[in-house]
Amino acid sequence: MAAEENLAGSIGNDTGGVAIEIEGSPAHLEAFLARLRAETPPLARIDSVRVHDLQPTGETGFRIVASEVKGQVATGIPADAATCVDCLRELLDPRDRRYRYPFLNCTNCGPRFTITRRIPYDRPQTSMAQFTMCPACQAEYDDPLNRRFHAQPNACWQCGPQLSLEAPDGSPILTVDPVETVIDRLLAGQIVAIKGIGGFHLSVDASSPSTVQRLRQRKHRYGKPLAVMVRDLEAARALCDLTTEEEALLQTPARPIVLARTRTANGIAPEVTPGIPWLGVFLPYAPLQHLLFADPRVKALVMTSANLSEEPIAIDNEEARQRLGAIADAFLFHDREILQRCDDSVVALVDGAPQIIRRARGFVPLGIELPFEVPPLLAVGGHLKSVFTLARGRHAYQSQHLGDLENLTGLEFFEDSLAHLMYTFEIEPESVVRDMHPGYLSSTWADKWAEERKLPVIEVQHHHAHIAACMAEHGLDGPAIGLSLDGTGYGTDGRIWGGEVLIARPDSFDRFAHLAYVPMPGGEAAIREPWRMALGHLHAAGIALDNPFICEALGTDTKEIAVLQKMTTRDLNAPLTSSCGRLFDAVAALVLRRREVDYEAQAAIELEGICIDEPDDIAGYSFQFESAAPASSTKLGAPGPGFPATGLRRWGGDPSLLGTWEGIEIDSAPLWHECLADLRVGQPPARIAARFHAGIANAFVHAAKQARTGTGIRQVALSGGCLHNRRLARLLRAGLEEEGFAVFQHRNVSPGDGGLSYGQAVVGAAIAKKQRRPESINRNAGE
Ligand SMILES: [Zn+2]
Ligand SMILES: [Zn+2]
Ligand SMILES: [Zn+2]
Repeated sequence: MAAEENLAGSIGNDTGGVAIEIEGSPAHLEAFLARLRAETPPLARIDSVRVHDLQPTGETGFRIVASEVKGQVATGIPADAATCVDCLRELLDPRDRRYRYPFLNCTNCGPRFTITRRIPYDRPQTSMAQFTMCPACQAEYDDPLNRRFHAQPNACWQCGPQLSLEAPDGSPILTVDPVETVIDRLLAGQIVAIKGIGGFHLSVDASSPSTVQRLRQRKHRYGKPLAVMVRDLEAARALCDLTTEEEALLQTPARPIVLARTRTANGIAPEVTPGIPWLGVFLPYAPLQHLLFADPRVKALVMTSANLSEEPIAIDNEEARQRLGAIADAFLFHDREILQRCDDSVVALVDGAPQIIRRARGFVPLGIELPFEVPPLLAVGGHLKSVFTLARGRHAYQSQHLGDLENLTGLEFFEDSLAHLMYTFEIEPESVVRDMHPGYLSSTWADKWAEERKLPVIEVQHHHAHIAACMAEHGLDGPAIGLSLDGTGYGTDGRIWGGEVLIARPDSFDRFAHLAYVPMPGGEAAIREPWRMALGHLHAAGIALDNPFICEALGTDTKEIAVLQKMTTRDLNAPLTSSCGRLFDAVAALVLRRREVDYEAQAAIELEGICIDEPDDIAGYSFQFESAAPASSTKLGAPGPGFPATGLRRWGGDPSLLGTWEGIEIDSAPLWHECLADLRVGQPPARIAARFHAGIANAFVHAAKQARTGTGIRQVALSGGCLHNRRLARLLRAGLEEEGFAVFQHRNVSPGDGGLSYGQAVVGAAIAKKQRRPESINRNAGE
């Protein structure tokens, strides 16, 4: 553009951004500035342009100068981007010098974050440093008018990374064309480990039930849905019923896995998504994947993260040989190092808008804005689905999805990724934020890490963090009514929370109402075995358990029930919980006869799945609302007066009022009686599941109304793992909007524990700010 506008000067990357020094006639300078803002390349994002006047130097020509490293980092590493249409054309053009070259890319596409060691993002700082460009590539790289001008991973057959094929015993598989050999093997029913952009995939033919079954057995992953890659949008349409928004999501440069409604008889083996009506589908995003699908015999491939169950995805050739040797029949390697592990991202359309379920490749490490300035800090997240957040100023940087910390590789991945992002963004945390639960691995890790560095530790309640994350995404600094419908999180009373109505501000919250406590017989075991949760709920509802109908439905007998009953009545290993996720599990156990689960939230996901075609406006099951004062009990669903507002204390944001609510309990006992009655008369499970969803939504809309009566707050933030449930999210929004609430849902941050650390960062920063300026708190504010 500078050349076209006849301007002289220079441009360079530095850690503060992009600096352009430019001189010429005022008209041309004006035109340049306007075009700079308007004509951005596909992957560029201009946050702001600042202009300063300089004395002209009289220089001629326009130069690109080498990157300078100084001061605090403001430019990021770009996220990885899918192969662009120009590169795809070259890939499949026999006359092009990069015909079928599996690593071609340009400034508009290619790997970024996953190959970068540190910023500024320049070739010597990436794993392309070891490949010296051939003269042809170098000429493209140096030509400002070329599409590969300063494309850091630029490469070709002559000078770039290459493929190699290996047997599980380490011996090379000799072939002229590794891609064609891999295709032959896939079609013959083999499992192939394929090194990709952010890690290895395990790939199999998605149409073969026996092959998919073998993959599940070898991977020890029996029930969890697998993602399927297909050639193009047309092929995706044949597998799933796609909305326009879902089609757009599939084609974004991030190329996430999109969860969409499965079409019947679509040729995909039922073993890919057992028991659920959705399929995670995605399109090729790397040249190698396009080459696989260039063969018309290849229709649909399972592409699942190459790991054993919950371990992190494998990235290193040697690591893959060791960890996947017993799973894969062949290995397709390449010699470009993956420096950052990054799974595929998962996105779903929730209540009409995209929601990130797993934030990884294509999104990391893009910053997420914060509603206020924060000091440098680290928030370590929760227990499962680990993701940490580094924050400074108005930006939060979430790590990629790190998986469970429970195994050693998981913990190493956490530490490596933290070191890398701290280094990359030059963030030196001044405090560490963690969950209140003292026993979480992330908590003990945070305490140790902070102690070594003599940093303060800030504890944040789990569901407060969830709500704060949703509020911050929408720039709300509160107060808001927070509906935190979740699996499990540690409460301030030491019990297990998860069905919470909070009055939330960034620095504090009040527990306005919650699902009534029920026992979790066997503690953690009740999460893996939902039938235990059903017994806990039935017991709490005062329903006799030793009846043949219940025994049969739960696949148990009176002996087993007696053991559990002893646990609950004697309070032995039966902690109390107000979890909404566990309520879903319990209903699913009874209605779907789902005794055990293979993966987290499986029962709840199946319960949502079974009623996918039921209408929304169905009569919900009832809940009972009870306050500490027994006289003010109201049954929701039955005609009668609403909850009397007189019993509620007016909340004015005063921290001294924390924990002084009397605590409305939302009791699910009526639900269980109605649900059992429906089961007894043979109502179909789909109808029962729909009535249950409607009941939950009604109950929490009602609770929000009570909270508004008590506080005057009209904003509602929805968060927690249960908000992945599309029916629930839709019903809640509709119900709340009908009552005149402004409703806020997650978009860029996961409502589940993957988004937790972002909320922790917000709360941690708000608390730190309050501690630093105690005089600024107006103790009578709003009263
Ligand atoms: Zn390209
Ligand atoms: Zn080359
Ligand atoms: Zn949670």
